[in-house]
Amino acid sequence: MKKIALLGATGSIGTQTLDIIKSDRNNFELTAVSAYSNSDSMIGIIDEFRPRFAVMMDKAGYDKVYEYCKIENRKTEVLHGMEGLIEIATLPEVNIVVTALVGMVGILPTVRAIEAGKDIALANKETLVAAGELVINKAKEHEVNILPVDSEHSAIFQCLQGNSLTEINKIILTASGGPFRGRTFEEVKYIPKTEALKHPKWNMGNKITIDSATLMNKGLEVIEAHWLFSQPYEKICPVVHPESIIHSAIEYIDGSIIAQLGVADMRLPIQYALNYPRRMNRVVEPLDLVRAGRLTFEEPSYENFPCLRLAFEAGKQGKLLPAIMNCANELSVDLYLKEKISFGDIYYIINECMEKFDYNKAVTIENILESQEEVIRFIKNKYN
Ligand code: NDP
Ligand code: MG
Repeated sequence: MKKIALLGATGSIGTQTLDIIKSDRNNFELTAVSAYSNSDSMIGIIDEFRPRFAVMMDKAGYDKVYEYCKIENRKTEVLHGMEGLIEIATLPEVNIVVTALVGMVGILPTVRAIEAGKDIALANKETLVAAGELVINKAKEHEVNILPVDSEHSAIFQCLQGNSLTEINKIILTASGGPFRGRTFEEVKYIPKTEALKHPKWNMGNKITIDSATLMNKGLEVIEAHWLFSQPYEKICPVVHPESIIHSAIEYIDGSIIAQLGVADMRLPIQYALNYPRRMNRVVEPLDLVRAGRLTFEEPSYENFPCLRLAFEAGKQGKLLPAIMNCANELSVDLYLKEKISFGDIYYIINECMEKFDYNKAVTIENILESQEEVIRFIKNKYN
């Protein structure tokens, strides 16, 4: 029986992880869950799964869930805030922590979970972007597996089975291209969020949906791939593949390309991460190749999607620059969703922060958190 702590249980990845757990109750037990403020969904999860612990980040949400459990006599212990998140990420009985929360808030609980020897099923890519060096070194030190949930990285991971990292010639990181594929930066600069939130292939949380529209998501994934698969940036090649059938591929030194194909459904990579190295009976309909028809590929435009270029720059410079970039991205996406800045401003603000802040410091938790604080203070002062 695998005992799971699911951070971000009420979100898009969280809910699909619950589906996988439900599909195989003999194999999985949901020990602990967390959410930010969505108390109604959390109460639903508690009623259905009866976890031992539930964490709410937001105080009002915590109060509501706590009261509910008291009145209804639920045995779930309700905890609050970052302390609670770290507590459930490090519970002695938990075997695997699924990081399905969004943003840099995932850094601390992920690092603490690794230190406690937990395997990580990682969806929360921002943690690897901001703290990749630290996370990967800690994972080696504590001999824990980082199992990718992101569909591209799950694909690469699957293509790697039975092969050696040293024989990779390049990683072909596929991208759907997002809602603005083929448009110029000038054309979408002032595009309203209703347009940016219409992803052609995937139904995801708002933050990653905007990241997909700017292609920052692909940029974050380039850095994620660098850390997960120990490859230099020159060997990580984003390719636009609008059909989203090939979820990524590896070209080996002999010229052979191995790709992973499937329908666009996150439950597949989640299921693989939770069962690795085994494969389980399907929960997702298989891909019908004849119906899929043609598969097409094109180069991404670094000119029209400058966030992708920024991510390569940040990754190559290293140190704290990816953390600064990631933080600036999170804040500007939030401002855009609140309609305080334009779509184009997301790029300008990230660029400004990458130029402004000193990144040449050691990648420690303290330095990452400190540089994030600086970026947050700057952006809040200037744009709120
Ligand atoms: P959602 O916005 O749908 O869900 C986020 C989850 O995290 C919710 O449970 C939310 O709680 C919680 N949360 C939000 N803010 C905080 C916070 N400050 N502190 C603690 N918890 C918080 O996101 P997604 O599921 O789309 O994405 C989750 C992660 O997975 C991201 O890193 C994303 O990049 C990655 N990912 C997502 C994919 C997808 O298909 N959705 C695909 C590949 C990767 P509440 O509901 O209460 O707000
Ligand atoms: Mg992805």
